[in-house]
This record gives sequence, structure tokens and C-alpha cells, in this order.
Amino acid sequence: MMSDKQAKKDAGWNFDNSYSRLPNFFYSKINPTPVSSPRLVKLNAPLGATLGLDEEVLQSSESLAIFAGNLIPGGALPLAQAYAGHQFGTFNMLGDGRTHLLGEQLTPQGERVDIQLKGSGKTPYSRYLDGRAGLGPMLREYIMSEAMFALGIPTTRSLAVVTTGESFLRDTEQQGAILTRVAASHIRFATFQYASHFGTVDELQALADYTLTRHFPEADVAENRYLALLQEVITRQAQLIANWQLVGFVHGVMNTDNIAISGETIDYGPCAFLDAYDPATVFSTRDTEGRYAFGKQPEIAAWNLTRFAETLLPLLHDDQKQGAQLIADAIAQFSEQYRANWLTGMRSKLGIFHEESEDESLIEGLLLLMQTYRADYTNTFRALTLDKPEDTLMYDKLDFRQWFELWQARLSRQQGTKAYSHQLMRNHNPAIIPRNHRVEEALTSAVNQGDYRVMERLLRVLTNPFAYSSEQVDYASPAELTACPYRTFCGT
Ligand code: AMP
Ligand code: MG
Repeated sequence: MMSDKQAKKDAGWNFDNSYSRLPNFFYSKINPTPVSSPRLVKLNAPLGATLGLDEEVLQSSESLAIFAGNLIPGGALPLAQAYAGHQFGTFNMLGDGRTHLLGEQLTPQGERVDIQLKGSGKTPYSRYLDGRAGLGPMLREYIMSEAMFALGIPTTRSLAVVTTGESFLRDTEQQGAILTRVAASHIRFATFQYASHFGTVDELQALADYTLTRHFPEADVAENRYLALLQEVITRQAQLIANWQLVGFVHGVMNTDNIAISGETIDYGPCAFLDAYDPATVFSTRDTEGRYAFGKQPEIAAWNLTRFAETLLPLLHDDQKQGAQLIADAIAQFSEQYRANWLTGMRSKLGIFHEESEDESLIEGLLLLMQTYRADYTNTFRALTLDKPEDTLMYDKLDFRQWFELWQARLSRQQGTKAYSHQLMRNHNPAIIPRNHRVEEALTSAVNQGDYRVMERLLRVLTNPFAYSSEQVDYASPAELTACPYRTFCGT
């Protein structure tokens, strides 16, 4: 372990620790467990720059020690957060079992973001688990979260991945790794459930007040601040889930502990993007019932929101019945908002910029065709964007041709130019997504051969998914069809 003296060349850390000023019921102060021989394998220098961190110093041995949990940067106050939520519908006491919040970085832009190590050792919430994370899953989170950011979807981000020099046994032997995660905060639906279940009303209120101040200052002045909090959280979920559905993202484990109050995508476990369009798509081996299938995500989001809303009951109204009515009314808003966001997004994906009542059936018509013919979701929109319908495997199908005519007629009824419509499509239809086989290829090469070039190339093309560059063409193809569908593992 390095001495504090060696930490003097600071990358630009500017920590505050507001979470630690909540009642200590909400966390356990605990340091990461040092690791034997850490090595930096991935650094996100552009993200570091936005956080006010110097790239050169981030590459130093001092920073490596920080990313490894071997050195606590000045001003940080490591802690593990407590939470308790529904995992596949069952309520459990949880908490950060292998992550340590170092503190909140105050950025040059005046933002406050959590800096958290993931895979950094045991905490009081580890239960029977080992507190560690594997290199493959941490690189996977890095790739997926940065791809989501590039797609313009709210998400936690990844600053660095280090290997620990230690291995551990899961199903197979794994190389240990630690991801440095950056998030608007790590307050989860399950943080509220923890307060509601195990805390006093004062503790619950402290969390709600903290959340309002940190994330929703405009709601903080509302007449019923806690109702405003609920409404804001609903609005952000309605945006987030619509974004996921529009790009074909399957989160995979929408347990209430994996849903952030901030509206960011969080906890990249067995997530993946659709190839062929099918609402029943499930990638996670753990999701045997299809609870978190692609098409179920909006419904599950409403279920999760209801669990969150219930925690606020004592704060919403003195009269329980009236409080329950406020919740029911607010939750009903979710489906409407979600649907409106999704429709707006779908119109844009089809180059439509004013509303007609039949748009919904036009959109549903295309989705049904994709499902029937197992057409690739991203590449269908890509082909339409490039004005190359012949590139879709549906092109020789009569019903697709009929749909295509209807769509063309719909576009011709718009006032604006064709170029405008076309630009709208380009801005809303990514040319590429992190294809499952491409992600696997990058991970295999990094984890098995220590060769990060494949991952670097992948990350480069994913940085601007709307570029439609020649470099991206190779990355647009789905995997060859095989007998076994793509599977992801929670073995994180
Ligand atoms: P997840 O399924 O990754 O969202 O994790 C669910 C819960 O298990 C969280 O409370 C995690 O902190 C905890 N957890 C997952 N993996 C480990 C591990 N290897 N060691 C300790 N806790 C873990
Ligand atoms: Mg989690």
C-alpha cells in the first residue's frame, strides 16, 4: 500500500461526501480491500477530462493505486451503500456487496458525480459472496455503458478498468478486475425500499430530501415535494425505457436495486441489444421466466415504479387513502408518458415529423413484419435510412412492399423536405450498436490473450453510432445465425 505522501501528485480530485452526511443507517464506512499487483488496462481519458482529471496523472502509479482501491485519494471517504429490493419479484436485503463509493467529484462544470469502485472487495453487505468482479464482465460494462452514452441514452459511465493481479473461482477461474464507475448518483429504487422497510419515517424523509436537493431541485419547491419527486422519477423512467425500446436494448435484470432514481441506465449485467426483432427476447440465463424480456420492460418499469411510489406513502399525505390515490394517479401517467415518448421516437426513426393518428398502426405494422420475418431491428431502420429497402431480407415479401408503399405515401404527405426527413432518420437510427458477437470477440481477445486492440477498435466505431462511416460497415452485420441463441451470464 502506498503512503499518503506518494499521493501528492493529484489528478484533480475534488471530492465532497454529501452521502456520508445522511444518517449512518444508509451506509457503512469501509475501505476497499487492497490488491496485490494492479495494472491499468483501460482508461477513459475524455471522460476524465470532463471530470477535471488530468490524463497524464490518471496514467500514473498513484492513480493506478486509487483505481485498485490500494490508495484513498485526498478528500475521499469510502463507503458501501445499503439497499433492499425486489430481485425477480422477491424482496431481499442487499447493499453494495463489492463496490465502494469513494465520494462525489465536483466537476469543473459544477456537476456532482459519484466515483465508485466496483469489484473492490467485501463490505458488510457482501453476504456469502466474495466482493470481487471478473475482468470480462467489467470490460463488458465499460463497452456497453460507453456505447449507451454515445447513443445519447442516460447512463452511468466507465472511467477505468484495472486488473488486480489476483484470480478467483466462479464457475471457472477468473482474473479479478475493478471498474471505476461514474454516476449521477447510486441512489436506487431499492435505497428507498430499504429506508421504508427498515428505517424510521425521519430516515426515509432524509433520503427523500437528499434526493430532491441532489437530483430534482425544481421539484423541491413544489407544494407537495414528495409527489413532485415521484412525478419526476416517473418522467425520467418514461424517457429512459422509451430510449431502451427505441434502440432495442435489453437490460436483463430490472430488479429494483438495478434502477437508478436519476434515470440513468445502471448495473450492466447480462444486458444485450436485439438482433432479430422479437419482443420475447431474453438473453440472460438467469431469467428463465422471461420476466425481463425486451417487450416486458415498460410493464416492469411500471411495476418497479409502483414499489418505489409505495415507499413514499408516509410522506405523500397524512391520510393513507388519499396518499394511495396520489400514487395510483401518478403511476397511470407512466404508461401515457412512455407511449408518447416511444411514439415520438418511432416517428423520428421513420422520418415522420408531424403527427397523424394512423402513425401508430404504421409503426406497429413494420414491427410485426420484422417479427414475422425475424428481420434485424437495427439494420431494418438502417436500410430505410440509407434508402436501400432492398437490403432488408423482407424486400421480396409482398406484405413488406405494401407497408413500404404506405410509408412512402405517409412521407409524401409531410410539408417539409425529403432531406429533412432523411436527416431525422439518420439522427435517430444508429448505424451500429454493440453487436453481441463483436462484444464477445473483443472480450475474448482482451481476457484470453491480453490483446486490447479489438476492443479499442470496437469502442472507436461505437463512439459515434450515427456517423454512418465506412469503418462501421463491418460492425453492422449481425452474427451468423446459429442453432444456439446468444446467452449472457450474470456471472459478474
Ligand atoms: P447484481 O445482481 O449484480 O445487481 O447484484 C445483486 C446484489 O448482490 C448486490 O447487492 C451486489 O452488491 C451483490 N453482489 C453481486 N456480486 C457480488 C460479489 N461478488 N460479492 C459481493 N456482493 C455481490
Ligand atoms: Mg446490482
